[in-house]
Amino acid sequence: DRYLEIINLVKAYPNPTGDPIRVVDGFNLAVKQGDVISVIGHSGCGKSTVLSMVAGLNDITSGNVIVDGREVVGSGPDRAVVFQAPCLLPWMSSFGNVMLGVKRVYPHATKAERRDLVEYYLSLVGLADAMHKMPREMSGGMQQRVGIARAIALQPKVLLLDEPFGRLDSLTRMDLQDVILGILDRERITTLVITHDVDEAVYMADRICMMTNGPGARVGQVLDIPFER
Ligand code: ADP
Ligand code: ADP
Repeated sequence: DRYLEIINLVKAYPNPTGDPIRVVDGFNLAVKQGDVISVIGHSGCGKSTVLSMVAGLNDITSGNVIVDGREVVGSGPDRAVVFQAPCLLPWMSSFGNVMLGVKRVYPHATKAERRDLVEYYLSLVGLADAMHKMPREMSGGMQQRVGIARAIALQPKVLLLDEPFGRLDSLTRMDLQDVILGILDRERITTLVITHDVDEAVYMADRICMMTNGPGARVGQVLDIPFER
């Protein structure tokens, strides 16, 4: 039942004037397959650090990350990440950006098969009519839709969202929350979403993980607040 398990995760940064600084000090979390967990907590409490370690983009000082029964080491398409900034390749259209994800998962598919997949993922995020737009021609919300499509195209076991709507106005934000929830209802991807917006946390998640603030604090208290999505 524990599809994603984060066990005693620690991140310590070297400190020239004393002991290493532990910015994450024993984070534990177990997530069932298909569940969406919101991670909330004050700015600086270590949310991004946890997420980047789960993604394999930041070295783990100690602890383990288990996905589908196996310890994961380093990054991989099994854990797709969406950051606050869309991070699209500026010289490629939305089609080309999503194609990057599709190629990674289907290196041997034919050109026609890949094109169908890219079109499918772009239509999932409501961009069927913007396949050939370049990032500079799109609003921030549209760019983030492409980023989401590219992440979903990796067919990840775990989706990691770090303040994915942080830069967007509140109406665009609400649209994109529904885009993500629509995709997760169809694809049932186990998801961690960092947010500092409690309304967003409640709206998006099955459970909320609250990290307590400050280096040295014990973190990863999971609040089981019953609510309907
Ligand atoms: P959050 O995502 O909750 O806002 P972060 O994970 O970004 O918090 O940061 C947690 C703490 O780790 C902060 O105090 C931050 O200053 C510190 N930190 C982040 N990256 C580094 C680094 N490369 N070196 C030293 N400290 C860092
Ligand atoms: P065509 O094959 O007629 O040039 P496509 O529909 O294949 O048109 O491509 C449209 C856009 O997608 C272009 O911007 C192209 O650079 C980009 N693109 C197409 N295929 C790929 C690919 N395999 N990888 C990255 N970008 C691609």
